[in-house]
Amino acid sequence: MSKANQNYSTVDIFSIARNRQKINTTVAVSEMPELAGTIVDADACKPFEVQIEGTDGIKGLPAAILTVKGCVQMLCTRCTKPVEIAIDREVPFLFVKSEAEANRLPVDEDEEWEVVVGSEHLKVADWVQEEVILSLPTFPKHEDCEAPYSDHLQADMQEAIEEKPKPFANLRELLKKN
Ligand SMILES: [Zn+2]
Repeated sequence: MSKANQNYSTVDIFSIARNRQKINTTVAVSEMPELAGTIVDADACKPFEVQIEGTDGIKGLPAAILTVKGCVQMLCTRCTKPVEIAIDREVPFLFVKSEAEANRLPVDEDEEWEVVVGSEHLKVADWVQEEVILSLPTFPKHEDCEAPYSDHLQADMQEAIEEKPKPFANLRELLKKN
C-alpha cells in the first residue's frame, strides 16, 4: 500500500502503474522555476496538491492519472491587477520506455491519453510544472473588471474615426477655391 502525503521528489512511474499505487504529495512553486517566472507573487503561492494514481491503461501500456490542484496569481490582461487562477487538472497518461516507442504508437485523433516517456526516477516537480503551465490561461482576466482607461480609449478612437478626413472633402474645398 502507498503511504499518503509523503514527499516524493521522484517516483518510479512504471511501478506505480503496475501496482495500481496511489501517491499523494505536494510540490512547492520554488521547485518549479519556469512556472514561478510565469506567475506573480510566486512566494505567496501555496504548494500544489498532487495525486498520482496507477490505473488501467490502453494498448497494454502502463498508465497513471495525474491530478494537480492549486492556485496561482497572474496579471489580468484587462485591468493589469493580480487575478487568482485556480488550477484543477486531471490528466490520464500512458508511459512508454523511449521516444522511439512513442513514435511507433498509432495516433488516435480523439485520444484523451497523453503519451510520455516514463522513468523509474520521474521528477514529479518537472511533470507537474509542465501540466500547470499548460493549464494557465493565455489571457488571464477577472470575471468582472474594467480596463482602467477603456472609456478614454474608446472616446479617443471615436474621435480619431470622426476626424479622419473624408476623401472628397478636400477636393470640394479645392473646387470652391477655383
Ligand atoms: Zn481585471
